[in-house]
Amino acid sequence: MQTSFTLAQLADPHMTASEKILRACVHCGFCTATCPTYVLDGNELDSPRGRIYLIKDMLEADRPATAEVARHIDRCLSCLACMTTCPSGVHYMHLVDHARVRIEDTYRRPLTERLLRATLAKVMPYPRRFGLALIAALAAKPLAPLLAALGLKRLAAILHLTPRRLPHRPRAPQTFPAVGDRKGRVALLSGCVNDVLAPQINAAAIRVLTRHGIEVVLAEGAGCCGSLVHHLGREREALAQARANIDAWTATAGLDAILITASGCGTTVKDYGFMLRTDPAYAKRAARVASLAKDIAEYLAGLPLKPDQNAPGLAVAYHSACSLQHGQRVTRQPKELLARLGFVVKDVADGHLCCGSAGTYNILQPDIARRLRDRKVGTIERLRADVIAAGNIGCMTQIAAGTELPAVHTVELIDWATGGPCPPTLREYGAHAALRPHVAAG
Ligand code: SF4
Ligand code: SF4
Repeated sequence: MQTSFTLAQLADPHMTASEKILRACVHCGFCTATCPTYVLDGNELDSPRGRIYLIKDMLEADRPATAEVARHIDRCLSCLACMTTCPSGVHYMHLVDHARVRIEDTYRRPLTERLLRATLAKVMPYPRRFGLALIAALAAKPLAPLLAALGLKRLAAILHLTPRRLPHRPRAPQTFPAVGDRKGRVALLSGCVNDVLAPQINAAAIRVLTRHGIEVVLAEGAGCCGSLVHHLGREREALAQARANIDAWTATAGLDAILITASGCGTTVKDYGFMLRTDPAYAKRAARVASLAKDIAEYLAGLPLKPDQNAPGLAVAYHSACSLQHGQRVTRQPKELLARLGFVVKDVADGHLCCGSAGTYNILQPDIARRLRDRKVGTIERLRADVIAAGNIGCMTQIAAGTELPAVHTVELIDWATGGPCPPTLREYGAHAALRPHVAAG
């Protein structure tokens, strides 16, 4: 694509990066076929190519974002299916990230939207605040249908997504020693939402790792990866959260890897090198941290996992989170691990399409998110599997809100099959006939 940025504009490194991305696009439109928002409504402006044009126009003309640009970029899930499809290697992720910052800096949203976005940014990345908010949401959960009927769809979406259990306290920084000879040492990102909503995920990861000789460190000072605010265009906050993690992990000696159990976070941590490339104090360390970052399944695939004799052998509908398959290109490992441990892995049709979770998307764009979720749940339920597995808490929460089937993290099944306990979600679901004997045995 031809561009016409001035030299003055190109003095800005963000603009240079975006110009390079824009020039790589050849307008072929292949990406439209796999874009969930285009697939739903067929509007070119809600396709990757349409969004690329809108962004080009806004950046080239050096104009503030308009309501139209904000509307179509806000509808983008940042699922990155377009990046997997694009034959020209267009790095849409960096382009849309730049556009979101530009929108945040130059476009004044309606008051209610500003308040909601600010609340999400000031609550979700902080586990204690998020825990308190969850308690309030749990108490108000019965009001969800009323709020929806009153047209307060975003509030209704928050309540609908709130799980029916009390939040947990985040784990304190600590080290979990390896069982037997130490074969490795890794940091594990506790994250923000993950440990409050579903502490069993990191607990399972810690058990599998330590059982196989890997010491696990929850580093002092590490917290939210920054992706929640990053996707809201709040760059300053996102970079501050990234820097805090980089400080925490680079102060931890002898790490072989930095492991992440929420793939949405993993995609962002792997991008720290790019996000902080212009910060002389952090660029090098950010690149090092990014190179050490691995999804938990990616790391476990390199370990000689020992299956337990009582591997449960359930049929698993594996939902490939967008951030894992498109953002990190980790596709084989989770399925191969599950199959190797005795599960029957079933691929979900149209698996490249997002479930509608996408960070805070299911709160900010509840209608599109619900349509995508219903579509995803339909394809999953047709598989008649015993359990749904995913590598991202956002997808698990989103999908679980639309089905009776239990949704667990892949690492919970891996833990169970290598000698750990039955995942609590499966235990609660144990009344299901197909699961009863396995759960009882687990
Ligand atoms: S597939 Fe790639 S090159 Fe083609 S229109 Fe989409 S982003 Fe541009
Ligand atoms: S990131 Fe996803 S929703 Fe956004 S343009 Fe690409 S395919 Fe479409």
